[in-house]
Amino acid sequence: MLAEKAVEEFKTRLRGKLIRRGDEDYNEARIVFNAMIDRYPALIIRCAGVADVIDSVNFARDNNLLVAVRGGGHNVTGSAVCNDGIVIDLSQMKGMRVDPVARTIQTEPGLTWGELNHDLQVFELGASGGFVSITGIPGLTLGGGFGWVVRKHGLAMDNLLSVDIVTADGRFLTASSSQNSDLFWGVRGGGGNFGAHRDLTYNFLVTSEWADRADSERNIRWTRQFWEAMQPFLAKAVYVNYTSDEGDDVIKAAYAANVRERLVALKNKYDPTNLFRLNQNIKPTV
Ligand SMILES: Cc1cc2nc3c(=O)[nH]c(=O)nc-3n(C[C@H](O)[C@H](O)[C@H](O)COP(=O)(O)OP(=O)(O)OC[C@H]3O[C@@H](n4cnc5c(N)ncnc54)[C@H](O)[C@@H]3O)c2cc1C
Repeated sequence: MLAEKAVEEFKTRLRGKLIRRGDEDYNEARIVFNAMIDRYPALIIRCAGVADVIDSVNFARDNNLLVAVRGGGHNVTGSAVCNDGIVIDLSQMKGMRVDPVARTIQTEPGLTWGELNHDLQVFELGASGGFVSITGIPGLTLGGGFGWVVRKHGLAMDNLLSVDIVTADGRFLTASSSQNSDLFWGVRGGGGNFGAHRDLTYNFLVTSEWADRADSERNIRWTRQFWEAMQPFLAKAVYVNYTSDEGDDVIKAAYAANVRERLVALKNKYDPTNLFRLNQNIKPTV
């Protein structure tokens, strides 16, 4: 049970907004892209900047709260929202800085690929993102990220130069090939397992939603039948961003044994209590 005084104090420290049950915007704030997800978090923190992200991680840890991190809110599992815990909602942080000379872009975690491309087009530039413009940049990149130009320019994560990340102990770290390089390896494909990401810097590239819930059963049945029928033609590999709630087996299918081992070692180092577990979860072993 959350102490009212602690929540009130936390609220006064935030630059962004704390939303709770009963607030006018609570229902709108807990909705994610998959309309079948219907979860009721205790707190939703719409972070305005890095201080809010650090404060939210510390508050969650100190109060033993289940943590969901929200970027674009498009993961079909609904891992961006939880019951009773805290949603660290980064979707309002939409800043970006384009450097056309260095050909890099720094993005905040609330941007979608469509919003990013809108600004890149002014410079006649593009990025290797997803096929669909409304997905969030962070979730897609952390799990790999493939789209229109993947064959020529690689996955979104292949174009990532660095990330700023708040780890479970509230530290703010930059991960790149020269700083915290173990973490940089882990975030490129390891999903949101290691912390909440504040900024992502990329290389430039020169260059169905179901409307009616009543149809869900029929649509799911059709999709499963289609999936079964396609099996003989599919590679026996799993893309971590397209997995659902299949449990530990999916992690085994998505990562080779030696990669899994490295990811577990990183998890043990950066998030030994599994604070960040609403994702395709790499379980710590410490
Ligand atoms: C309509 C649709 C189209 C899609 N198209 C593609 C496609 O073309 N290519 C492709 O590769 N994938 C695609 N996907 C899958 C997509 O990559 C994943 O669903 C991805 O997780 C979405 O990212 P998000 O930020 O919107 O999601 P969210 O639901 O906000 O986040 C998903 C998870 O990522 C982690 N996360 C998100 N933001 C952060 C952050 N800032 N810091 C730490 N962890 C974070 C959290 O664990 C979170 O639970 C599509 C999905 C949908 C629904």
